[in-house]
Amino acid sequence: MENRVYKITLIEGDGIGHEVIPAARTVLEATGLSFVFDEAEAGWETFERIGTSVPEETVEKIERSDATLFGAATSPTKKVEGFFGAIRYLRRRLDLFANVRPAKYHPVPGATPGTDLIVVRENTEGLYVEQERRYARGRVAIADRVITYDASYRIVEFALELAERRRGQLALVHKANVLPLSDGLFLEAAYDAAKRHPTVEIEEVIVDACAMRLVRDPSQFDVLVMENLFGDIISDLTAGLVGGLGIAPSGNIGERAAIFEPVHGSAPDIAGKGIANPTATILSAAMMLDHLGESRVARVIEEAVDRVLESGPRTPDLGGRATTQEFAEAVAAKVQELL
Ligand code: ATP
Ligand code: MG
Repeated sequence: MENRVYKITLIEGDGIGHEVIPAARTVLEATGLSFVFDEAEAGWETFERIGTSVPEETVEKIERSDATLFGAATSPTKKVEGFFGAIRYLRRRLDLFANVRPAKYHPVPGATPGTDLIVVRENTEGLYVEQERRYARGRVAIADRVITYDASYRIVEFALELAERRRGQLALVHKANVLPLSDGLFLEAAYDAAKRHPTVEIEEVIVDACAMRLVRDPSQFDVLVMENLFGDIISDLTAGLVGGLGIAPSGNIGERAAIFEPVHGSAPDIAGKGIANPTATILSAAMMLDHLGESRVARVIEEAVDRVLESGPRTPDLGGRATTQEFAEAVAAKVQELL
């Protein structure tokens, strides 16, 4: 087997990003794969230092690498002149059209056994075109929700390919009963894409019913695909089903680049203390390996995480006393044992 060298850009960002990214790196270095890591900067601290949250050099590094692992970036709650959110900017700039959010059972408090699904969220349009207007002396407000055939086709095609590699089931999540023109177009594009994937079993699910069915029995779903806002809400629900923020990984995937990141933010309340749970970032690193074609090693990392979550050491959010790095070193040791 050829021994590929993977070029990985690491972006710590802000807050606990400085802790969880080194932790994930410790685990990646234990896999025996060859990596060249290149560090890049983005986020609020970068903005404060040099006046932009995403330097051009960072964009170039992401484009040149095989994949990027991102920690977290803080956004100020007040509007700051010239500031833009790093990850939102990168999604748009690099056309990272697919937001992929797996929700899989791991042995942590409150997680629903049997959950193993992936939410695929369209990342470029819907309400996120950010076109709002006020009329009638400010007493009426309208927000545009843009659905295009091409973006719908592209995201469903992506989800179909994912479903083929998994259990072969795809849920098309929509609200075409109320929005027959826009969500009707999403469904039209979806069925056109599905013609080329006859082995995938397609099911239409109305978004509200989807929320209820997920809470009652998430094991009935494999891959779910939907437009931007539905995906935002449903993927937070599914993260909640498997134990919440400390656990949930994600990927932002496009034709030219891919950025993997934990769902949680920069957690300023616990930053700098060395107690952040790095599980979500380690699982994001495993997703990144899947994306690079290293599925066997990705499964080993997931298995190692589960073993350590079961037997300890655990970080304080899971009732333990371990530091971020101690947890990561325990996972790294388990990876080497399982390889
Ligand atoms: P941001 O503005 O960057 O999103 P935030 O204040 O919203 O920051 P989040 O990171 O979204 O913070 O986290 C919300 C809560 O969950 C915080 O109380 C935080 O301490 C906790 N939390 C988030 N991630 C982790 C983690 N990896 N380990 C432990 N606790 C976490
Ligand atoms: Mg947050």
